[in-house]
Amino acid sequence: MNCPMESRENAQLLVDYCAGKLDPEWEARLDGHIATCAACGEFARRQRAVWEALDGWDAAPVSADFDRRLYRRIEAQVSWWDLLVRPFRSPLGTVTPRRTLAGAAAACLLLTAGILLERPAISPAPAPNEMAQVDTVQPEQVERTLDAMEMLNEFSHHVRTEGSGSKL
Ligand SMILES: [Zn+2]
Repeated sequence: MNCPMESRENAQLLVDYCAGKLDPEWEARLDGHIATCAACGEFARRQRAVWEALDGWDAAPVSADFDRRLYRRIEAQVSWWDLLVRPFRSPLGTVTPRRTLAGAAAACLLLTAGILLERPAISPAPAPNEMAQVDTVQPEQVERTLDAMEMLNEFSHHVRTEGSGSKL
């Protein structure tokens, strides 16, 4: 047979051989090859060491209340707004690095652009230079953008509820 180390087709054979997954006929063939091939012999020796290490490894036991804690976290109600804003909130609430603000502003502008593009009949698309000003954005601008987004969200919510009401 061709040396498994030198042919792609036989490489899986060598792996299966080391895992003890081959049928007796192929196992005998591999035995014969490994007896004469130093490279395959070395590979098999190392693979066996890995399997033995895995056999001796015990996974840490899962804590008794793992399920309960997991479901509590899944069930915790988090609004999309919290999810969006959370990464940009500083733990102290007052000191926010300028770069974080710029990142928040960029995310807000992208989101606003997405909302505006989704509803072209309601508002015009943002001016192209709006995106270029992200680097020099001021905290007040971020605040104004956040307020505008909140208004836009409420507005679209009203439009949606009114729209579904008129159809009835
Ligand atoms: Zn070989």
